[in-house]
This record gives sequence, C-alpha cells and structure tokens, in this order.
Amino acid sequence: MDALAPPEPFRALLLFFLGSCIGSFLNVCITRLPAGESILVPASHCRSCKEPLPLRANLPLISYLLLRARCVLCGARIPVRYFLVELGAAVAALACHQRVGAGPRLGVHLSFVCALVAAAVIDLETGIIPDAISVYGMAAAFALSWCAPALAIADFPSPGGSLLGALCGGGVLLATAAGYRAATGRDGLGGGDVKLLAMIGSFAGWERVPGILAVSALAGSVCGIGLACVRKDVSLRTPLPFAPFLCLGALLWLY
Ligand SMILES: [Zn+2]
Repeated sequence: MDALAPPEPFRALLLFFLGSCIGSFLNVCITRLPAGESILVPASHCRSCKEPLPLRANLPLISYLLLRARCVLCGARIPVRYFLVELGAAVAALACHQRVGAGPRLGVHLSFVCALVAAAVIDLETGIIPDAISVYGMAAAFALSWCAPALAIADFPSPGGSLLGALCGGGVLLATAAGYRAATGRDGLGGGDVKLLAMIGSFAGWERVPGILAVSALAGSVCGIGLACVRKDVSLRTPLPFAPFLCLGALLWLY
C-alpha cells in the first residue's frame, strides 16, 4: 500500500473530528459490551449518577478537557481511558486516510483498527474479549470478502483467503494453547484470544497470520520481561492479557 499525499487541512480537521466521534462510540462499546448492556439504549449517561448527559458533556475530547475529567452533574471522576480512546480513534482516522485514501477502503480499515482498539482495551480492563467483536467481526470480514471487488477494495482477501485466515489464526493459537497446557499443566491463552486472532486472520488473510503472531509474541515477551524487571509483584509466570499484543502486532505488521 503506497502512502498517499497528506490530507488538506480542512479535510484533516474533519477526519480528526469524525474519528473522535467514532472514539466516543467506541468508549460506549468498551464500557457496555463486557456488561452485556445494549450499545444503543439508553443514550449517553453518567456511570455514577446514571443521569443522561447534556450535549456539553458529550463533545468528544473537548468535554473531557473543559470539565476537567469530571461528570458535569455529580462531579464523579471520568477515567482517562475515555480521552485516550477518543484521541486514538481521531489519530487512527487520519493515519488510515493517509495509508489507504478515502472511500469504502477507508471505512473498512478504520472499522478494523477500531475493533482492535476496543478488543485491546476491554481485555486490559476486564480480561475478556466479547464475541460481538471477534465472532461478529469475523462474519463481517467474510461477508466483505465477497463484495470487496465490487467496492474496489483491492487488498482485501478473497472469500477462500478470508476463511483460511480465520482457520489459520484460530488454529495456530488453539494448538499453542493445547501445547502450553500439556507442557505446564496451566492455561496460558484464553478462548477469546483464539477467536480474536481468527478475526484478525479473516481480515488480513492467512499469509499475514505468521507475521502478526510473531510480532505479537515478541511484543508480549519484551513487555513481560520488562514488567518482571521493574515491578516486584510481577514475575515471568504472571499471566498477562494477550489481546493488546495481538492487536499491536496486527497494527504493526499490517500498517
Ligand atoms: Zn454523574
């Protein structure tokens, strides 16, 4: 994929704003999906006082800064994750546009990146990866592989490549998890990780799965060893959530 010319200032600003709005919706998904709540109703409300939030408390990035990370109604502290996810999605929108240009291809790549961000943050916060991201994402990728030629999305895998990518991604992690359990008697990887790499494989195609897995494993090992060196309460046997590293590996390898 060749990098395109940088977007014009106005378009860049618009993309940044749209990205931050997508980040705001991602925050809703990250908060509600693990709790089994609907992501559509009720409308945006404070998690502490449960009251619906007025418009001035719902502006992506701006509200967090103006209200100094506090609920406008009850003063409860708002986690910094809300700001970081909105900023991350805004930057992702610009980066994806820079990488793949405008049109349906931008929508596909940005959706994929947003799904990875949501999966990584949810796994960090709760230790689970909702099927709504991994399984539905896999179904969406497979459906998209059929209509990618009509939408002129040139670098999307064929239906066979997408299916093989899911089988390859899920199969490799499933075999790794079984081998680890046989060797150590402990569980090293969860079913959520298996389904997440299957989803990544269905988007990226089977050829890219080994590279993504290698980068993820390397990033996870470096982080695990680093944490064990600087923190007394972490050892090399301490389990770390693997989804953030799978997502990081996919982003680094693909983009
Ligand atoms: Zn409140």
